[in-house]
Amino acid sequence: MSPERILNVSNLDVHYGRTHALRGVSLSVGPGEAVGVIGETGSGKSTLARAIVGLVRPSAGRIAIDGEETTRYRARQWRELRRRGIVQYVFQDPLRSLDPDLTVEESIVEPLLIRGRSRREAADRARELVARVHLDEALLSRLPGELSGGQRQRVTVARALVTDPRVLILDEPVSALDAANRVRALRFFQELRDAGTSLLFISHDLGSVAGVADRIAVLYQGEIVEDGPARAIVNAPKHAYTRLLVGSAPTLRSAAAARADREALRELLQTIGG
Ligand code: ADP
Repeated sequence: MSPERILNVSNLDVHYGRTHALRGVSLSVGPGEAVGVIGETGSGKSTLARAIVGLVRPSAGRIAIDGEETTRYRARQWRELRRRGIVQYVFQDPLRSLDPDLTVEESIVEPLLIRGRSRREAADRARELVARVHLDEALLSRLPGELSGGQRQRVTVARALVTDPRVLILDEPVSALDAANRVRALRFFQELRDAGTSLLFISHDLGSVAGVADRIAVLYQGEIVEDGPARAIVNAPKHAYTRLLVGSAPTLRSAAAARADREALRELLQTIGG
């Protein structure tokens, strides 16, 4: 695997009992690159995210993060990797990823305290991070249950950024947000990418991914069926499923181009019985 890729996934297979959730999935993320993965519910998106961060064990294939092969890492090795701040993740449900008994400040600084930083240094960093994710400092003393959904999501992002990760895995990071918070979050991810953080942005929503990703991989029934520059995926989708996605988000492209795809869409719906 080429060491200059921050994240390299090759020929990954994941089984849950008889369900073959991922089939020979390969993708990579370079330094400062934002790669999107789109797919419908059940296509294997969460499985991919969870396999990359060590929460699901692949049955075959390899994963390397910053040149280090992590495929067979155990929990202890994963803790160490996160402590070193190389990879972090933000998953869809902030309530599930935040400890309900820790204040915003405690949640954000926990990884720093584990790494032996002083309380004062950690508190300064917490203030810097809440400002970075556009949260009011006054929220630092609140518990997750006392925040809105959008605020909680920003806390999980601040927490993930505390170790300055080289790559951030975002699994449906905006799907629980209302329109205003979604736009705000997408803008923030663009800023992060522009500042050099590598992103793997996983979502069912092509519109969200297309605004942030340089490249997009399309996951369909556990396989990557198409992978290319975001513009090419949107303007000239090759796989029938990608055409369906693009056709269902016509604001992404000109009305004329969307019209040209309607025929393919009709065909696809016929083949899948829609
Ligand atoms: P997505 O995130 O795209 O909705 P998932 O990765 O959650 O897809 O699921 C992919 C496939 O694996 C689906 O068929 C799903 O039912 C199955 N699956 C996911 N998690 C589990 C699990 N813990 N046990 C058994 N099957 C699972």
